[in-house]
Amino acid sequence: MRIARFSIDGNVAFGAVEGEGTVESGGLVLDIIKGIPYTDFELSGTKVPLSKVRLLPPVLPNKVVAIGRNYAEHAAELGNEVPDVPVAFFKPTTSVIGSGDAIEYPSFSNELHHEAELAVVIGRMCREVPRERVKDVIFGYTCANDVTARDAQQREKQWARAKGFDTSCPLGPWVETDMSIAAASDLAIQATVNGEQRQLGRTSDMIRSIEDLVVHITEAMTLLPGDVILTGTPAGVGPLNVGDEVAVTIEGIGTLTNKVIKRG
Ligand code: MG
Repeated sequence: MRIARFSIDGNVAFGAVEGEGTVESGGLVLDIIKGIPYTDFELSGTKVPLSKVRLLPPVLPNKVVAIGRNYAEHAAELGNEVPDVPVAFFKPTTSVIGSGDAIEYPSFSNELHHEAELAVVIGRMCREVPRERVKDVIFGYTCANDVTARDAQQREKQWARAKGFDTSCPLGPWVETDMSIAAASDLAIQATVNGEQRQLGRTSDMIRSIEDLVVHITEAMTLLPGDVILTGTPAGVGPLNVGDEVAVTIEGIGTLTNKVIKRG
């Protein structure tokens, strides 16, 4: 099931996405969900065309934990070694936006980069998850863009500003819940800017697997329903400019599209 979060006439709801096509092509319908998707829920049977709503980030995370340098070719393109231990950092909740929302170019940077990433959405409260239980704590998968002020990342020892500024974490367009870890671990992932391909990789090229990352993160902290893990980006990261439209597409999930604007 594809689960979206949206607003219509000032009300916010979750809905199951039905039909074929994309956000842009139209033809998709939302069956409004009664209840909260992480627990038991029912479809209401009340349907609205997706073209009539505003998509919101598909989850409201308590935290976004991101992993750096998890694809060897990407580490190499920035002149970095693959770390012995995964590099983990946070993106704040205020960085999260949905598909169709604007990425605001931050004033302190002159080098904004896109990073297409598979996002793992957690479905239940968990800590110290053993490898064989990882499948039980995953709610589904969505597309993410770990938008990065590369110059600030290189200038500043910690990445809180470079990767945590407002609008730096587009997520969406929805969460795909019918996907096994094995399937999610071998998907084509790409980023385009103004329709031109910039990144193309496969999630099978991740150095640390989805299971590895959930085990590693939950050794340290409790994850809550709706929390998100960004799993790293393949090679091909590159600049975004004001006016650009960046799209992250992951096979079997969908396309996350955002425009870059000047911060007003
Ligand atoms: Mg990243």
